[in-house]
Amino acid sequence: MISQNTIQQILARIDIVDVVGTFVKLKKRGSSYLGLCPFHNEKTPSFTVSPSKELYKCFGCGKSGNSISFIMEHEKYSYVDALKWLANKYGVEIEETFQSDEQRQQVQVSESLYIINAFAQQYFSKTLLETEEGQDVGLSYLKQRGFREEIIKKFQLGYSPEQRDAFTKEAIAKQYNTELLLKTGLVANRNDQLMDNYRGRIIFPIHNHSGKVLGFGARILKTNDKAPKYINTPENEIYVKSKILYGSYFARQSIDKADECLLVEGYTDVVSLAQAGIENVVASGGTSLTPDQLRLVKKYTNNLTIIYDGDAAGVKAALRGLDLALEEGLNVKLVLIPDKEDPDSYVNKVGATAFRDFIQKNKKDFILFQLEVALKDAGTDSVKKSEVVNKMAETISKINKVEDFTKQQDYIKQCAQILKIEEGGMHALVNKFIRDRITTQERKQTADDAKQQQEENLKQAEATNYDDATFNLLFKDELQEREVARVLLEYGIKKWDDTKLVAEYVLEEMVDESLLDNADVIRLIAVFKEALENNPETVNRNFFIYHPDTRLSALAVSLLNFPYEESTRWRTGASQSSGFQKKLFEQSYEDFIKTLAPDNETSLLKFLKIDEDKTNEGVESAVNYLKLRKIKRMLLENQIDLEKEHTPEEFTMLNQTHDHLKKMEMELTKKMGAVIIR
Ligand SMILES: [Zn+2]
Repeated sequence: MISQNTIQQILARIDIVDVVGTFVKLKKRGSSYLGLCPFHNEKTPSFTVSPSKELYKCFGCGKSGNSISFIMEHEKYSYVDALKWLANKYGVEIEETFQSDEQRQQVQVSESLYIINAFAQQYFSKTLLETEEGQDVGLSYLKQRGFREEIIKKFQLGYSPEQRDAFTKEAIAKQYNTELLLKTGLVANRNDQLMDNYRGRIIFPIHNHSGKVLGFGARILKTNDKAPKYINTPENEIYVKSKILYGSYFARQSIDKADECLLVEGYTDVVSLAQAGIENVVASGGTSLTPDQLRLVKKYTNNLTIIYDGDAAGVKAALRGLDLALEEGLNVKLVLIPDKEDPDSYVNKVGATAFRDFIQKNKKDFILFQLEVALKDAGTDSVKKSEVVNKMAETISKINKVEDFTKQQDYIKQCAQILKIEEGGMHALVNKFIRDRITTQERKQTADDAKQQQEENLKQAEATNYDDATFNLLFKDELQEREVARVLLEYGIKKWDDTKLVAEYVLEEMVDESLLDNADVIRLIAVFKEALENNPETVNRNFFIYHPDTRLSALAVSLLNFPYEESTRWRTGASQSSGFQKKLFEQSYEDFIKTLAPDNETSLLKFLKIDEDKTNEGVESAVNYLKLRKIKRMLLENQIDLEKEHTPEEFTMLNQTHDHLKKMEMELTKKMGAVIIR
């Protein structure tokens, strides 16, 4: 929306020392500047700004970036808003580009709505504080509820008089556009007459992140009225309910500092708590949380504590949509305010310190809380109970971050205990949900990739003109590569022998990485190696299943058989019907009898040893298959090369290579027991 020209002008004028210096006290230290990091608490400065590189970096918390990202991070602005802030600071006139007239119009409408709202906010504030009706009705009500004037002013609360068109008249006199006035919801059209919509109500302006008024909540004062308790601004160009958290403008710095966001239901709860000095509070406006609201919270903190009154509707509302919070990686806790109180009345009753203590002591984990509620609902109904189990597994499966892995394991354990089911079963169920989800993602991704790969292959095939068989041999080592990757994931940290791990064996024995085709497999091996060197204890299958690189996690999930679900391939290899026991019965009668002879225990044991660990055998065979595959490929490439023209020396070399590869192939085939692969 901001033109390139404007951006260039801003960039040309930016001085990072100046920009950061607006918020942080900087001292010159050599060629750079040093200060206390604004992003984490510290007493000795580790935040440096380099004017020559136009960068800042904190050696304490690791935050780094340029002037624009500093403003975005510090002020929680979007990219565009950060640019606007900088433009304003450096006196650059913003030239906005529009794609269409429609867009231009929409921006104009938005700007106008902000202007009208700003005017209305001032009007309502003035009415509350300076008119007789405002003071007698509005202000006295607020004071009776315990609000002091400073907090009323801070939140810019107001009052709309009883008269049917007091505000409308004022606005029309100021020549505000009627259509836009109707759009703000401040004015209503009844039988072709314009009138005030919020008559006789207390006005709560709702601010956006930079303090502009998006809309209003208007609370009724009279009791026993059939009118709704609150009227809110209708959805318009700037008021989008699903993206609004009341109070976020005032709370953002406290949330940042406390690293926790308290969420309440009502506007008055926010104001009351803020007055008591608990400022990291926002209100959702009573509905269940939306993804946009959660993202808004996440801009400031990962810790969300939801405070609700203890009634059933409130609880249900609190629970709805919270799976989304888990997906966003938020830690969600719930606190129920004791019976018949709400946060507003409760903080007034017990005071700020006791309130804070209460929150700290009564925070309940969201998932376990949800389980409690669901179980209470299900009662003894076993169908309902199994639904609960499924729902819990699905919820837990959404904790999908590598750093949250232990958290997920804890939940599985605790939920299994509470539900009185086997932990293993719960585990399998959770994994099923994870796998389903990743497979869906992967399917989407591979469809795109496959198309791209096909095009590339076609191009290459055209260039070299291989026949189909050659083509297949050259480009389809996929299976063997994936099998080695799977073995690595599944058995990598098991012991190969007393001296090394399976992974070490695989990495030593495997073909050179430059021979691998599949980019994901190559990456997986690289990541595995690195992790094995640096943090061997973290390298388990879950390290990859929950790896932040989604391609890696997708690969891991598609390769791995999940816990408690045996791999069919490996099972048949060792099962009773096809394994050692079968061989026992396949012997001649005489040998069978001999085997059973009482003095021949060892030979019988040999046949009955059905649970023998065949891991190494499987690992070895996976590695060998891959090697053989690659040898065959090199042989073929060498063959193709031989058919071209060469000097005698080159021919000798190619022939030697051929012989060498052939020898390797034979040795390998012999070792593998005359396995024929095509
Ligand atoms: Zn820092």
